[in-house]
Amino acid sequence: MGEHWPVIGHEWAVARLSKNLANGRLRHAYLFTGPESIGKTTLALALAQAVNCTSREPPCGACRSCRLIGRGGHPDVRRIAARGKGGRIRIEQVRGLQRELALKPYEGRYRVAIIEEFHKATGNAADALLKTLEEPPSHAVLILTAPSAELLLPTIVSRCQVLSLRPLPVGTVRDALRARGVDEEMADLVARLSGGRIGWALRIASQEGALERRSELVAEWFEIVGAGPIGRFAKAEALIRSVPKDELSGLLDFWESIWRDVLLAATGGLDRMANVDVGDKVAALAEKIGMDGAYRALDATRRARAQLDLNANPRLTLEVMLLSWPRAGDHHQVL
Ligand SMILES: [Zn+2]
Repeated sequence: MGEHWPVIGHEWAVARLSKNLANGRLRHAYLFTGPESIGKTTLALALAQAVNCTSREPPCGACRSCRLIGRGGHPDVRRIAARGKGGRIRIEQVRGLQRELALKPYEGRYRVAIIEEFHKATGNAADALLKTLEEPPSHAVLILTAPSAELLLPTIVSRCQVLSLRPLPVGTVRDALRARGVDEEMADLVARLSGGRIGWALRIASQEGALERRSELVAEWFEIVGAGPIGRFAKAEALIRSVPKDELSGLLDFWESIWRDVLLAATGGLDRMANVDVGDKVAALAEKIGMDGAYRALDATRRARAQLDLNANPRLTLEVMLLSWPRAGDHHQVL
C-alpha cells in the first residue's frame, strides 16, 4: 500500500499513513521525527496531497489538488517554520495558522498545517498550539516535524501520532541518485557521505561545485592532521576567519564523519566507511594512530561541536580540539 507516494524510502511510514487514510482513521495530528534532510517535510507534503487528492488512488500527483500542493500553491495547505538562522517559531505565526484552520477548507477536504522544526517554537507558541491539538477542527490535519520527540513538550507529543523516520540504507539512496542520472561512482560516494539522508544526497548531487568543495575540505583535514601544533593553531585561526560562524558546526560534522571513518578503519569496518574515495589514505592514518588515537579525536570533535552549539568561544574550542587530535605527520616537533 502506498507504493506510488512521491517519497523515497520510509515505506513503513507511507504504508501506515495510507492505511490510516483508507480506513478512515486519519489522525488530526502527526509528528514526524528524524535527522535533518531525511525526508520529513517531503512525507508531510505527500500526506497533504493524499488527504486532498481527488483521484481514486491518492496521492495521484496529477489532479489539480496534487499539483497545487506539489508546487506550494494550494490555499488549504500552509507551511510555517522559524525564520532565519537561530530563529524561533513565534506565537503570532501560530495564531495566524489557527485563524486559518478555524475556517472551512477553501477547496480541498482538509486544511493541512505543516509546522517544521517545532522544537524551535517559543514556549508561548507551543502553549498556543497545544490548544489546537486538544480540540482540532474536524477538517484540520496538523503535521509537526522535529529532530526527536524528546525536544518537545510531552503534552504536545501525546496528542500526535509519532512516526520516527530513520536514515535510509545506502543502497536506497544510491538507487535514487542513479535513477536521476547521476553516474555510478558519484552516486555511490554521495550515498555513503549522506549517511542515509536522502534530501542531503539529492541536494549535493544537484549542486554545482558541492563535491569539489568537499574534496577541498578533505585535503584540508589531512593537512591539519599532518601538521604540528603551531601549524594547527595557524589553521584554526585561518578557519575562524574564513568560515562563517553558523557554518562551523557543519564543518565539525564533516570532521566527525571522517574521524568516524578512521575509527572504522582501525577496527576493521572498512566496508561501512563514508568517505570511500580517500579510503586508502584514511586506512594508512588509522594504521599510524591506532584505535585509541582515532577514538580520542572523534570524541574531541564531538565535544567541540556540542560546545559550539552552546555558543562557546569558537577559537578556544577549536584549539582545545586540535590539541586532542593525535599527531600523525612526519613534521619536526616544534613545541
Ligand atoms: Zn491527486
